[in-house]
Amino acid sequence: MKKLLLIASLAILGTTSSLQAQNSCGTDHDFAEKARKHPELIEARKKFDAGFKEYIKSYKPSSGLNKKGSSPKYIIPVVVHVLHDNGAENISDAQIKSEIDFLNLSFRNLVSDSINRRQDTFNGTFYSYKQLATDAEVEFRLAKNDPQGNCTNGIVRVQTPLTNKGNDELKPISVWDTKRYYNIWVVRGINKGNSVGVAGYAQFPMGFSGGASTDGIMVIHQEFGNIGTSQAGQTPNVTTSTHETGHWLGLYHPFQTQVDTCEMNGDEILDTPPTYFTATSNEPLRNRCNNKNFNSCTMDVPDLPDMQENYMDYFIGNCASNMFTKEQVARMHYVLETYRSGLWSAENLALTGVLNQTPSNCKPIAAFNSPSRNTCIGNSLSFNDYSFNGTVTNYNWSFPGGTPSSSTAKRPTIKYDVAGTYDVTLIVTGPGGSDTIVKPNYVTIQANTANPKGFYTVDWWYQNNWQEQGWSFEYESPNRKFERTTAASYNQNASMFLPKDPFNQLMTVGTTASLISPSFDFSGTPTGYFAFDYAFAQGRLPSSIGGGATNEEIKVYVSTDCGKTWTPKTTIGSSSISTIGNNASSILASSVNFVPADQGKWKDVVISGATIPNNSNVKFKIDFKYQGGNNFFLDNVRLGSNTGNGELLSEELKLSVQPNPFASSTKLRYFLSNRKQVEIRIIDITGKEIATLFNGEQTAGTQEIEIGKSQFQLSSGIYFVSLNIDGQKFSKKIVVE
Ligand SMILES: [Zn+2]
Repeated sequence: MKKLLLIASLAILGTTSSLQAQNSCGTDHDFAEKARKHPELIEARKKFDAGFKEYIKSYKPSSGLNKKGSSPKYIIPVVVHVLHDNGAENISDAQIKSEIDFLNLSFRNLVSDSINRRQDTFNGTFYSYKQLATDAEVEFRLAKNDPQGNCTNGIVRVQTPLTNKGNDELKPISVWDTKRYYNIWVVRGINKGNSVGVAGYAQFPMGFSGGASTDGIMVIHQEFGNIGTSQAGQTPNVTTSTHETGHWLGLYHPFQTQVDTCEMNGDEILDTPPTYFTATSNEPLRNRCNNKNFNSCTMDVPDLPDMQENYMDYFIGNCASNMFTKEQVARMHYVLETYRSGLWSAENLALTGVLNQTPSNCKPIAAFNSPSRNTCIGNSLSFNDYSFNGTVTNYNWSFPGGTPSSSTAKRPTIKYDVAGTYDVTLIVTGPGGSDTIVKPNYVTIQANTANPKGFYTVDWWYQNNWQEQGWSFEYESPNRKFERTTAASYNQNASMFLPKDPFNQLMTVGTTASLISPSFDFSGTPTGYFAFDYAFAQGRLPSSIGGGATNEEIKVYVSTDCGKTWTPKTTIGSSSISTIGNNASSILASSVNFVPADQGKWKDVVISGATIPNNSNVKFKIDFKYQGGNNFFLDNVRLGSNTGNGELLSEELKLSVQPNPFASSTKLRYFLSNRKQVEIRIIDITGKEIATLFNGEQTAGTQEIEIGKSQFQLSSGIYFVSLNIDGQKFSKKIVVE
């Protein structure tokens, strides 16, 4: 029993106090998120609830009611999308089928632990939860035809690194017409705001703009099915999907949150007893199963113990979660007869093929990925097969340019000896047929050449040279990217910034954006350094999860194997990440647009000396993990692998080469604050000198030197302009087309 409340504290638990994992339901939290973006949902929900009040007046339980084994009135075609990153979350077909089997036992009131339903006397009143338990007459069947009419086993597998941050943002990666299929997404983790420990969430039946693309439920793999990765120890394990499916069919939680009034029809259902529950850090879920008379509401009539048996409540421990009541079933029938009537229509059952119960042998669908497909010569690449839809008996890979150039293994490992981009082909064959997937230019192998010693800056203040120099951004979430801005900068006139994404407004919280450097020679440079400046203000967490500052993190990594493995070197955590102080006023409201007004609003991050490996091939990576704070600015990224203190001079040098790459000629420009001894040479990637451009004294001011392709007989390729200014060395990569 609960009143219609839009915020459920269960969805946002961050702490667990027992050894048992306590994964809760994120449905109410999800509804609150959706209602903020689609205010029409509030009215739609009222209309939905009012509709049920009318429906139940003339509701007649069908004749099949409680007749175990009778044929189901409602058959629902199901598609399960496994969104995985080649980890344990890529669960087996058998584990998926175990969940479908359990859904059918639970919705047909056929679970084996029904013996634990109570029938007793409480305060002198006889009650029977046993008699209230009702067959919902719903049967779930994995689809046998996909939306195009092809043979399917009802299971789709898609690889995505975002599987540990599951939310509505991921669903469009793989979704079948939600009017024809019950879509279930299985992921590694669910990302509902800043919360952890969400086992699943559902979308209620009432529609809203765009809602058809996200309709269904999302469940973590450890609570899907009862074999494989879903094992005892997770709470509540196999009943999670039953609970979420209850929401999907219009049921609310019986418990009350926030203010308790213990009203009889809080959940719009009259035959569940009034229940009150507010999560605390000591009791994130209801751990009262040891008391069969536990009764959270004592002021109402009938005053009965809380229905620990109900699938829609959240008791943990040895409670038997094993029943829906008569009215809960009536409410699900209301949804099936109105909002979801297209799913079980005769026409749809024929289209989705679920009336045919004989097993079919579908053609497999070839699918693979490699977690390290952009790498350097000498690194081996592993390839992961995740073909699906049918049995595979033979794998036939081709790796033109690789060693070996073909394989029949399920997960082969390949090396490439020459820089370039390469296609990969996989043919899978099974009793249902064969399928081929070709991924053109799937593998990129870079030459293992590092930039020579010198001083380097990432010069995004005038153009995109930084990309040509081999710097790149990588994103965990495709929806939030760094942008160049002239609104603020540490020096020069521009910086890169990651726009704010106010907490709970968009759905990309918790993802990481990274800046990755090209390779540099740091051998024999004990005083080398890598440094950058950033500006950032934290946001405020919702009060429902304790308020306080958002929880961002900056991490700097180095790699000496061309980015195959990264070693963390420094971490700037939540308490020290703000560049505008650590008091309450430094936490900005999401309506405020943080822009650092001066250099005092920036922080400098430096790693230097022995922190940087003494290695001829060093790459750097800056990770920024976002949790809902304000704008993040990044600027003045620089490094010195020479032994002198080149930094001061470089600030004033403003070294540039434009255009770059160039076809016939380019211009080298730099600025001298006073008269200096200057030597400028062109060297090739092996370090061999091609030409000396200048050697002598130069006066103060901007200097400009033209570099002509034919003048120096440059062939196409990569060269370096090497400057020696009063004994300090600088270098600039140039590309001749
Ligand atoms: Zn729930």
